[in-house]
Amino acid sequence: MENNRVRRDERSKAAFEEAKQVMPGGVNSPVRAFKSVGLTPVYMERGVGSRVFDIDGNEFIDYVASWGPLILGHARPEVIQAIQETAAKGTSFGAPTEIETAMARLVCERVPSVDIVRMVNSGTEATMSAIRLARGVTKRNKIVKFEGSYHGHADSLLIKAGSGVATLGLPDSPGVPESIASNTITVPYNDLDSVRLAFDKFGEEIACVIVEPVAGNMGVVPPVPGFLEGLRDLTTTYGSLLIFDEVMTGFRVHYHCAQGRFGITPDLTCFGKVIGGGLPVGAYGGKKEIMEQIAPSGPIYQAGTLSGNPLAMIAGYTTLSLLTPEVYDNLEAKGAKLQAGIEDNAKQLGIPSTVNRVGSMVCPFFTDQSVTNYDVAKNSNLEHFKAYFGHMLNHGVSVAPSQFEGMFVSNAHTDEDIELTIEAHYQALKLL
Ligand code: PMP
Repeated sequence: MENNRVRRDERSKAAFEEAKQVMPGGVNSPVRAFKSVGLTPVYMERGVGSRVFDIDGNEFIDYVASWGPLILGHARPEVIQAIQETAAKGTSFGAPTEIETAMARLVCERVPSVDIVRMVNSGTEATMSAIRLARGVTKRNKIVKFEGSYHGHADSLLIKAGSGVATLGLPDSPGVPESIASNTITVPYNDLDSVRLAFDKFGEEIACVIVEPVAGNMGVVPPVPGFLEGLRDLTTTYGSLLIFDEVMTGFRVHYHCAQGRFGITPDLTCFGKVIGGGLPVGAYGGKKEIMEQIAPSGPIYQAGTLSGNPLAMIAGYTTLSLLTPEVYDNLEAKGAKLQAGIEDNAKQLGIPSTVNRVGSMVCPFFTDQSVTNYDVAKNSNLEHFKAYFGHMLNHGVSVAPSQFEGMFVSNAHTDEDIELTIEAHYQALKLL
C-alpha cells in the first residue's frame, strides 16, 4: 500500500465554511466538527455496506457506523426497502400503529429483563426518562454514575466527578445548575469500593446507579469480573434501581445485549443506536411493576410527538429481525481478527498499545497500561491518536475522531475489509 497518501478535502472544506455560518460550529453534534483532531470534517455523500463515500470522491472503510447504529452496514437493502414501503403510506400519525407493538414485542422477547418498553427518539431521552422513573418510584433524588461514561446530555447526566472519591458531582457544562449536579454522585468505573463508599454515605438517598455495562465513551472499557455483579448486589441491598445504559451495547455485543453476555439482570435498560436501525430511536424498559408507573398507566410523565414513529419502528424492527445469533458469531470473529492484526502491528513497530475489545466494539489505546477506567484511558498518548486518525483517513479508513470512542465492526465488513484495515493501521503507525 502506498504510504504518505493525502485525502482530497476541497469540497468538504468549502461545505464546512458555509455550515459554520448557520450552525453552531458548523454541525448538529459537536464531535462531527473534528475539533480535537484539528482536521476538516469529512462530508459524507453516501454509504453502502462497509463503505462510505464523501463529497470529494474519497472512499473509506467505515468503523464509525453513525456512532454505532449501523451494525448491518450502510443502506442494507431490506432496511431501506422497509423504510420506503412504510414512508409511502405516511410518515407520522401521532396515533398508535401496529408496528410499535411488533417492535416492543421483539425487544421484550430478546431482552429477558424487559417486560414492558417505551419508545423514545434518542439515547438521551431514554436515559433521562429512566432516571426520572427511578427517582419517581424510589422517591429518592440522588443518582450514581461513572467517570468517563456518557449517557446523553440531560442535565443530571452531564456531570463530572467532584474532587475525591464518592463526592457529589460538578456541572460539566455551563447551564447545568449546581443544585442538579449535587444530586449526581460520580465514581470511577470498575471501582466497586468507591460505589460501596457512596452507598455507605448516601445509601438511603440513592435512586439508582446508571452504568454502561461495557463502557464505550472512554474508548472501550470492559467491566472487570465482579463489577456488574457487585452493582447488582449493592443496589438490591439499598433498594436502589440498577439501570443498564445499553444505548451503545444493546443488540451490539450479544443477541441478548450486554446483560445477556454477562448474565446480569438490571431493573431498567436504556436503548438507542442499533435499536433504530439508523433512524432516530431510543427506548427504555424493564420490570412490569416499575414500567407501569409511566403515564398513562402510572403517574410519572413522559411523552413524545414522534415517539414510535412508523419509519423509525420499521427500520429498527427490520434491523433486529436480521440480527440472528449467527450474525453475532460473525461480528465476534471479525472483531477478533481486527484486534489480533492491530495488536500485531503495534508489537512489530514497537508502539505502546493496548487493544480492548468486546465483540464488535474494538479500541486501540496508545498506552501499554491495561485500560480499566477513564483515568488510564486519559493517560494514553492523545497526540499519537490525533496523528493516527489523520493517517487512517488518508489510507482510506474512517474511525471516530476521538480516542474515547471505539471502532464498530459491522456485519458488512468482509475479511478483505479487515485485512485492508490492518494494513492501513500498519502504515498509520509507521508514520507516527
Ligand atoms: N448513552 C450512551 C452509552 C451513549 O453512547 C450515547 C451516545 N453516544 C447516549 C447515551 C446518548 O444517545 P443519543 O446521542 O442518541 O442521545
